[in-house]
Amino acid sequence: MTRPRRNPKKIPACEILIAGGGLVGLAQALALADLGDGDQGKIVLVDRAPLTPKSKTQDLRAFAITAASRRMLTRLGVWEKIAKHAQPVSKMLISDSPLHSVARPPLLEFPTLETSKDGLEAASIIENRYLVQALTAQVKKDARIRVIAPDRVTGFETGPGSITVQLERTGEIDARLIIAADGARSGIRRMAGIKTMDWDYGQSGIVATIGLGRPHKGRAIQHFLPAGPFAMLPLVGDKDDAHRGSLVWSEKADEAQRLLALGGQEFLDALQLRLGLQFGGARLLAGPQSFPLGMTLARGFTAPRVVLIGDAAHKVHPLAGQGANLGFKDVAALSETLIEAHRLGEDYGNLLVLERYQSWRRFDVVTNALAMDGMNRVFSNELPGIKQLRDVGLALVDRVLPLKSLMTREAAGETGRVPALMRVGEA
Ligand SMILES: Cc1cc2nc3c(=O)[nH]c(=O)nc-3n(C[C@H](O)[C@H](O)[C@H](O)COP(=O)(O)OP(=O)(O)OC[C@H]3O[C@@H](n4cnc5c(N)ncnc54)[C@H](O)[C@@H]3O)c2cc1C
Repeated sequence: MTRPRRNPKKIPACEILIAGGGLVGLAQALALADLGDGDQGKIVLVDRAPLTPKSKTQDLRAFAITAASRRMLTRLGVWEKIAKHAQPVSKMLISDSPLHSVARPPLLEFPTLETSKDGLEAASIIENRYLVQALTAQVKKDARIRVIAPDRVTGFETGPGSITVQLERTGEIDARLIIAADGARSGIRRMAGIKTMDWDYGQSGIVATIGLGRPHKGRAIQHFLPAGPFAMLPLVGDKDDAHRGSLVWSEKADEAQRLLALGGQEFLDALQLRLGLQFGGARLLAGPQSFPLGMTLARGFTAPRVVLIGDAAHKVHPLAGQGANLGFKDVAALSETLIEAHRLGEDYGNLLVLERYQSWRRFDVVTNALAMDGMNRVFSNELPGIKQLRDVGLALVDRVLPLKSLMTREAAGETGRVPALMRVGEA
């Protein structure tokens, strides 16, 4: 909480203020648009940057969107706008051969097409720009959502029945609840006094879009190399490049700096060495860019009239492509909790209501974050005993069908208590 400014300008009150217009905040605004009982402007979305379309090269990340997330995006009217850019993953191939191996034989293979009860593949790959653009357009055209951007939440003061939020440019606004979707370095989390557990992996994620010499046929690969996982996610081709892929390549931070500085053919050689030859010769289409990798887990997801979602609550290692999917599950679970409380006439900013959301999501988030952390540590490790153990473990998973099917359902986001917005056949 910060000290309020003297005589700030008051703007019309709202029900819920969502701070942060990234993927997760945008989806949250759409999922809660009904809560204002059809009144315009009862749901407010604030972002410190203008909500404008992203250019082709701004953020090169591509996301593995689970079947569960896809169902939610469909119900929010977003999926139909991006479906043509979404590449279904037909197979996930996992290997852990040494860096200089000529071949990268898969230790584990998951067929992922039509694995859900409604026939959806476990995951589809979509570039960040398409997803953000479609979510932004949907939010902008929804008259029930008031967008205030660019502006920034700089503080808030909690009262008995409401919270007064200070915005840097616009003034002060009363709400019943702030939803913090302001990313891994959440200022709102800090202002609410919520502590975090943080791990710095000392790794960077190198991201690039590449052209492939041969069709990928929907195959996604994950090579666990000593410095960290190297993934190639298949993308839909475009008019310039029929076979495209997106790389998420983890390296020790100083090695990543060195690789990024190489540029040109030397960078491409390093990339090809890790990718192997199964997709033919690779070409660099965009990037590389790099992202620092770490894990941040909020010790609690709630404070009086404040609730955390997305990376503000949990930032995980991208090796299984779960970060945004976990955030989308927060969105679906929080919407369900708040809408149900509203229906029962409860004050949904009340801590007791918010704690229902917290107890729903925390277990899933903590187990996921720890699983990613554990996998990264076990696979980025060449000690002979550990390497043998993990090879035996993976070979076992490959042969035990129920275990494999459980892992595929996990990849589809269909384990644990799944919120209605993400369930098969529910509205
Ligand atoms: C290399 C890499 C690859 C990844 N791959 C995948 C993948 O395949 N699948 C997957 O599910 N996830 C993946 N992730 C994770 C995913 O990118 C994140 O989990 C997701 O983008 C988090 O979204 P968010 O909306 O919570 O936060 P952010 O995207 O960080 O958005 C936060 C927003 O809040 C705004 N903001 C900040 N402070 C304020 C303030 N005070 N007031 C107002 N606004 C504010 C910012 O401008 C920003 O728009 C990957 C991550 C990395 C680094």
